[in-house]
Amino acid sequence: MAQTLFVSDLHLDAARPHIISAFCRFLEGLEGTDALYILGDLFEYWVGDDDPATGLRPVTESIRQLSLAGVPVYFIHGNRDFLVGEVFERKTRCEILQEETVVDLYGQPALIMHGDTLCTDDIAYQKYRSRVRSKWVKKAVRMLSLRQRLRIAQGLRDKSMQAVQGKPPEIMDVNQQAVRQAMLKHGVKILIHGHTHRPAVHDFTIHGEACQRIVLGDWYEHGSVLKCTPGGRSLETLRI
Ligand code: MN
Repeated sequence: MAQTLFVSDLHLDAARPHIISAFCRFLEGLEGTDALYILGDLFEYWVGDDDPATGLRPVTESIRQLSLAGVPVYFIHGNRDFLVGEVFERKTRCEILQEETVVDLYGQPALIMHGDTLCTDDIAYQKYRSRVRSKWVKKAVRMLSLRQRLRIAQGLRDKSMQAVQGKPPEIMDVNQQAVRQAMLKHGVKILIHGHTHRPAVHDFTIHGEACQRIVLGDWYEHGSVLKCTPGGRSLETLRI
């Protein structure tokens, strides 16, 4: 099947097993697909590849099966699962891509990313992000015990929920200037990302040229997938 698929923001968590099963069923139907791209926040949290996370095993196993069936699976870190590492990559046989990657969509270059770096109006978040994503913080985190990391992750989720509730909605969306800059930097007219949980296709122009920004939805009430074929692109809602 000449189709390339994009998903993000599944926020898979052992506490919501029906979403895990829905995603595994979705993967089972993808044999023959050209490629699957997971653009971050596949997991609600990921404290390290050494976490047995038994509730999530069906997910890693299903991704592995899909890879073994010959469908390339690519992953870009989200803000919740940026500690997904090489062991996960090996186990699932997926490939972790750079946080900004240009892919060829049947002849058209498209920039793909998680999308949190586009939310530049949220200054507090961007400061936090640059701190936790630095090499030395990641190194320090790896030295903590699994229990300590799980405790920190719980604390961060509580904090993030409070922070989100206190922020006006427009701050939580992307900044159009940041969108333009990213697209110009990579010389693309298509941008695909998630993170904001605001699924939509935005048409606009940059220097008079038609551009498109496609935002993937989350997997809470429904699933969300972008299907690209040589004939076009459609952002679809899935019943789960
Ligand atoms: Mn996110």
